[in-house]
Amino acid sequence: MNAPLLVLDKVEKQYDGFAAVKSIDLVVESGEFVAIMGPSGCGKTTTLRMIAGLEVPTGGEIRLRGKVLNHVDPWERQTPLVWQSLALFPFLNVRQNVEFGLKMRGIDATTRRAKADGWLERLGLEPFATRAVTQLSGGQRQRVALARSLVLEPELLLLDEPLSALDAHLVVKMQAELIQLQKQLGITFCYVTHSQSEAFAMADRVVIMNGGTIQQVGAPRQIFRKPANRFVAEFIGTNNIINGVARTEGGDIVVESGFGTLEPPSHGAPMPGRKVELVIGADFLALSRERPALPNVVPVRVIGEQFVGSVVVVHLEAGDERSLRAQLPLHLFEQLAPAHGEALFAGWQPENAYLLEQ
Ligand code: ATP
Repeated sequence: MNAPLLVLDKVEKQYDGFAAVKSIDLVVESGEFVAIMGPSGCGKTTTLRMIAGLEVPTGGEIRLRGKVLNHVDPWERQTPLVWQSLALFPFLNVRQNVEFGLKMRGIDATTRRAKADGWLERLGLEPFATRAVTQLSGGQRQRVALARSLVLEPELLLLDEPLSALDAHLVVKMQAELIQLQKQLGITFCYVTHSQSEAFAMADRVVIMNGGTIQQVGAPRQIFRKPANRFVAEFIGTNNIINGVARTEGGDIVVESGFGTLEPPSHGAPMPGRKVELVIGADFLALSRERPALPNVVPVRVIGEQFVGSVVVVHLEAGDERSLRAQLPLHLFEQLAPAHGEALFAGWQPENAYLLEQ
């Protein structure tokens, strides 16, 4: 069996006693698109820089196809990086920038030119081939940076917020182009972003980091529906998290919470007396004027609404300033047309909640 493309084995990075990355494990398979995300300072960039060879880990091992990379110089690794800062050579034109890496590898001029031109064409950059990179738009510069890395035909491409300098409309376009390119070429992507929508829209798997540790690795849907812990559940931002304590009632397990007695999902039934958190996606909360025939119902009051594209997030208060939020497709919101301050019922099926034990 082939060794996985990339393995981080208890990798850590200390800066003068400060642990920026704390013993992380990660396996990336060939052809995967893995996004690393988390709040500012969580260690995303440090992790990527260690994979690139720009930082030496202070512990653990980084292996590429089974070969330990810790002390292999960046230029000897098949892992070019595309940074958001771009760092194109201002004294070289577009084509020369793209050819640069090939030149460093001693590739002859004819082959260099053919390869560079191929990538310029692919990325819609041929009209700018002889232009100075200082005379390009932000989006064009991003493309040159990509072409410069892709021309090296890396097995693994490391990207650190590559779209952060672009306008919103260009971001969506470049996201689609990058996904297509990655799948077409079969190049493995490790992609650092602080943007949840970007990570979830693009990646096969998402790595959520916090405080130098990996909190969860999983497919976007899995992370969305089954967050590993409270940090991830809150970080995703669209979940309701209800604290409670499990107890038995007539032979069944129920959760006693500030919202009353709730029926938990059947998976992983908690032991009586255990503190638990029920995580309910905002899209699973049904709103109605009549009390619905659902096992879990909470009387709520509408305190605000927020349009997010074609969905509406309705902010709700449930006594004692406890808050919940429901996310409705726009047409259902228009049907219900809830008034500010109106009393409604919020209900959900127990199986649509996810249970975290503390
Ligand atoms: P951001 O999203 O803000 O770029 P990040 O998740 O990429 O953050 P890192 O740049 O990896 O975070 O930094 C992780 C932690 O390590 C931070 O607390 C940072 O201040 C610290 N750090 C990074 N580089 C160094 C360094 N050269 N010396 C000391 N501390 C550093």
